[in-house]
Amino acid sequence: VLTEVITCPECSEELELDDVERKSRKVYCPDCDVMLDYNFSPMKILGKGNYVELLTTMNLSDIALIKSILENAEVDYYLYQENFNLVRPLVEGAKFMINESEIDKASELLKDYKLNIWGTSVNK
Ligand SMILES: [Zn+2]
Repeated sequence: VLTEVITCPECSEELELDDVERKSRKVYCPDCDVMLDYNFSPMKILGKGNYVELLTTMNLSDIALIKSILENAEVDYYLYQENFNLVRPLVEGAKFMINESEIDKASELLKDYKLNIWGTSVNK
């Protein structure tokens, strides 16, 4: 649910959202000098050079496909596999962590795949 006003988790400042911010689901807190990303729950606090989760998948063929897309586009990312093991592969899924400065690019690149494969888009 989109809200008109969010509270910065760092300084408790109330931040009013404009249309662009509501659409991107990111808002800048001038008090903390950080971007707040409320695509995530709890909200993520982004600094320059931070990596943010673009999506999570448990499907190995999706992972290979997404990796090739990101690598072809030279997106700065890494793959985080929590509790990965061969007995129960990808129980927790693999998270694609994207450099915040390239998240829009990566999101655009994977837009169709996110819709087709996961049904819901992370950064709609
Ligand atoms: Zn703040």
